[in-house]
Amino acid sequence: MRPTGRLHLGNYVGALENWVRLQDSYENYHLVADWHTLTTDYEHTRQIPENVFEMVTDWLAAGIDPEKSPIFVQSAVKQHAELYLIFNMLISTSRLERNPTLKDQVRDLEIEDNVSAGHLTYPVLQAADILLYKGEVVPVGEDQLPHIEITRELARRFNNVYSPASPVFPEPDGLLTKFPRLPGLDGKRMSKSLGNTILLSDSADEIKGKMRKAVTDPQKVRRNDPGRPDVCLIFSYHQKFNESEVSEIRSGCESGALGCVDCKVRCSDRVISHLAPIHEKRAQIEKDHTIVPAVLAEGAKRARVIAEQTMSEVHQAMGFGA
Ligand code: AMP
Repeated sequence: MRPTGRLHLGNYVGALENWVRLQDSYENYHLVADWHTLTTDYEHTRQIPENVFEMVTDWLAAGIDPEKSPIFVQSAVKQHAELYLIFNMLISTSRLERNPTLKDQVRDLEIEDNVSAGHLTYPVLQAADILLYKGEVVPVGEDQLPHIEITRELARRFNNVYSPASPVFPEPDGLLTKFPRLPGLDGKRMSKSLGNTILLSDSADEIKGKMRKAVTDPQKVRRNDPGRPDVCLIFSYHQKFNESEVSEIRSGCESGALGCVDCKVRCSDRVISHLAPIHEKRAQIEKDHTIVPAVLAEGAKRARVIAEQTMSEVHQAMGFGA
């Protein structure tokens, strides 16, 4: 994840919660992708350390166990940059220009005539991030699947060119999450840039206040009007955070027996109780400012061991330092 500060419910439901679950079945590496933030905003670097701190605090509060799963900052492990440099030689610019995720970003950001070389090649950096640790499975949102494909191509190309007899890199698979698109309070995809978020660290009052103002089915104007749960963002929160009452909420909404105000109160109560243990843990972590730096230092130490090992295999395969 790129360090953008405190996380929102979309980050949690679409990614973080899944990572916590996966730590029991995989050996996980959690990367704070600080260099990646430069691709779209290279001017505002001073706020990155604060954003890293807040994001990693959220990761730990949500249950990432740094003993099981090292957490580290990309720029603390320089091998990412070296492998990125080598991989850049193994892929054409036209292949990178065909990347549909880049095309979407360029259109959204209106930077058609001003894409930096770093932005064009950011999937190559991502491939280095994954393959440095010989990642086999990468939990991602749908928009990231084209980058996993580029990663597979780079692994294959490197292996074919330099180590056909004993491949250095695996070809990783993407692992999609169950909730790839949690809506925000205005019904669009929850996103910091749209200002429609509920933060993981929002207080109970903030959550209640935000939900009270959230849009619902525009056709349900009065309390007894029948509603359409499938167009209502509050219903998608019920589906996620209030599974046991989903069918009752659906029938209450559809018949008109359940008004939006009550429905929102029930929803915010469930979100608040779901987040309560996360808030408790966040409060403990916030009390001790040495926790996050220590986790990152230890994580980088562990990551460097693997990164050095992989790079020595890379050097050997390429005949460097022979
Ligand atoms: P971002 O900082 O937007 O790149 O998001 C970090 C992670 O959170 C990525 O894995 C995204 O797929 C996931 N994510 C972000 N927003 C949402 C959302 N509204 N619903 C589900 N997942 C999301």
